[in-house]
Amino acid sequence: MSMPTGTNTTWAQVHELRRAEPGIGAGRIARRLGICRSLAQRLLRETMEEANERGRCTRKRRHPTEMHARAAIVAIRAEGNPSQLSAYSCSFCGGWHVGHTAGQKLMQILMAAE
Ligand SMILES: [Zn+2]
Repeated sequence: MSMPTGTNTTWAQVHELRRAEPGIGAGRIARRLGICRSLAQRLLRETMEEANERGRCTRKRRHPTEMHARAAIVAIRAEGNPSQLSAYSCSFCGGWHVGHTAGQKLMQILMAAE
């Protein structure tokens, strides 16, 4: 995920605070880091989205190419699984995963928000 220049330190600090205090709010982050609340809210939202995406990555099987991921979908469908599955490239591991179509829509929303 690309970050605007200059915010990397703050980004890392928000990660650090969230690790130390799970469930920490934007107000507390703003006070701790001496930044405005709206920036804290944005950073908090972004770190949470990143954590969700990373979690999906580590839980899923990694495929080296889109072709491998699509082959996996064919195999899953052949077993009679009716789920709407699609292949998507992962920004964390650089590989491909198989996800439900709803998951891919969320991914597209996240990508568009960058
Ligand atoms: Zn991944």
